[in-house]
Amino acid sequence: MPADTRERQQPNHASPPVVPPIGARTTYALQRLLRPNPAWRSLARWLERHRRPYRAFTAAEATVKSSLFGCKMCGQCALPATGYACPMTCPKEMRNGPCGGVRADGTCEVFPGVQCVWVAAFERCERSGRVGDLDLLHHPIDQRSRGQSSWVNYWQGRDDDLWGPP
Ligand code: SF4
Repeated sequence: MPADTRERQQPNHASPPVVPPIGARTTYALQRLLRPNPAWRSLARWLERHRRPYRAFTAAEATVKSSLFGCKMCGQCALPATGYACPMTCPKEMRNGPCGGVRADGTCEVFPGVQCVWVAAFERCERSGRVGDLDLLHHPIDQRSRGQSSWVNYWQGRDDDLWGPP
């Protein structure tokens, strides 16, 4: 398909893929702090019983994660299995690897000149010795979770089935 035709297909509502500004190893280290434990589970239960603090917490999460990962607040976070490159920043929201349109130089079909988020995921996993993560099969997300706190969902054990063996 000619490049000019492809560029006209760019949807108005989509934003470009996001390559996190912080290294993968740092994000894996930070993730260890967020692993479910009794304190986080207790906080999650309390937040879900109190609407206003839950909203404030979710807004804070959105601010942090959107600046670091371009988070779209899908509520069911894939980051630990994608080298902390958010697949929801793919304009097609591909959660199981790149589409067939990724360009030969590794850039996005929809946003020319911007690295495909799945190429970024591969590079980040490779640097962290976690390429095997990219073999995992991500299950369809529950769209009703959009806008929810993915941290609360994670601590409540709702992410346990987000991905599995291929
Ligand atoms: S919660 Fe969803 S949209 Fe946000 S970083 Fe995780 S996968 Fe991406």
